[in-house]
Amino acid sequence: MTSPSAPQPTAQTECPQPPAARTFPVHHHPTSSAPDPQLRLETLLVRSGTGTDPATGAITTPIHLSTAYGHPGLGESTGYDYTRTASPTRDVLQDALARLEGGTAAFALSSGMAALELVTRTLAPHGSRIVALRDLYGGSFRFLEVLAEEGAADVDFVLGLEGLRGALADPADLVIIETPTNPMMEEISIPEAAELAHAAGAKLVVDNTFYTPVVQRPLELGADVVVHSGTKYLGGHNDVMAGVAVVADDALAEQLNYRLNTTGATLGPFDCFLLLRGLKTLALRMERHEANATAIAQFLRSSPYVTRVLYPGRSGMVSFDLAESVDVARFLKSVRVFTFAESLGGVESLVTCPSVQTHADVPVEVRASYGLSDRLMRLSVGIEHVDDLIADLAQAFEAAGV
Ligand SMILES: *Cc1c(COP(=O)(O)O)cnc(C)c1O
Repeated sequence: MTSPSAPQPTAQTECPQPPAARTFPVHHHPTSSAPDPQLRLETLLVRSGTGTDPATGAITTPIHLSTAYGHPGLGESTGYDYTRTASPTRDVLQDALARLEGGTAAFALSSGMAALELVTRTLAPHGSRIVALRDLYGGSFRFLEVLAEEGAADVDFVLGLEGLRGALADPADLVIIETPTNPMMEEISIPEAAELAHAAGAKLVVDNTFYTPVVQRPLELGADVVVHSGTKYLGGHNDVMAGVAVVADDALAEQLNYRLNTTGATLGPFDCFLLLRGLKTLALRMERHEANATAIAQFLRSSPYVTRVLYPGRSGMVSFDLAESVDVARFLKSVRVFTFAESLGGVESLVTCPSVQTHADVPVEVRASYGLSDRLMRLSVGIEHVDDLIADLAQAFEAAGV
């Protein structure tokens, strides 16, 4: 029998302490110093990578393809040794991305999924509890499901702020949201999500792919990490696959950098250049995406071929349900200016059928639980003339009417 005065084991003595987080200092480009803080986002975007090569005065940043860098002497470095660890072109891009999202460090990776994996594995080590929105991008949902299946983490999928509130009554390590959600276009309040996450002891990750820093800057609203599929609006031309993670906390940045250098899914120099080029026109593109999407949402709301339109009024993504009077397959075959394809955020307009494309790996009952049916179409509205886009949808509805 244990005497009442014997020391009781505490949670602390029972659980082994986690190992100290491994860190690696973040590298910045020597000449992409912070510009005038008065500059507005549009100007910062255009100046992404400008003035980083004083020796030549190049307007755009050079693409440094070299994988290795010579050392001036033993124990000496130019700041660059090996390209997985740091590359000048990637540094320029990362410094620009950090500024645009209001962070102190950014990481450019080979895809959006690589960025999400880096952040999740760093902030939710084995045995962690993750709370995520159920209507995330299908690939993100699949990744978290795999983590749960492998026993790497407990994952609770919830709907909306109310779902977050319920799940975060218990402690958690990581909360992952998208706002607006994909493809249901539901906005979630970032300050409220951050408050709930922090009260539960968790960090908040916001996937900002759909809105970009032109529309919303999650770090300034309380998020701890912003991730992007740079493949979408940031790149903007359907020609580069990239992922981005941005943080404002230096200790967290050093942990992410340690893991990125260790696991190696960094973005190559040419792709970094393409992403920098995309950034220059981001503000202009977002303006046109939004104007076109607003007009198209209005057209769809008045169409007898459409039963529901989901458009939050910002950015260029519009979802809608086709009425029973339209044959889905024929509609997708009939579009001419829109292309039936699986991506978003480029200058070209695309139409996606999420139930068979982006969200095909989300079980049908999960999709149904938040209103994603096989009649839901998702438009990524491009920057073409809006009259051509509306005329295209109108003729495709006519052609597919049954
Ligand atoms: C495409 C996408 C991703 C995944 O990014 P990849 O670059 O395709 O790996 C993540 N989140 C959202 C919202 C996306 O649209």
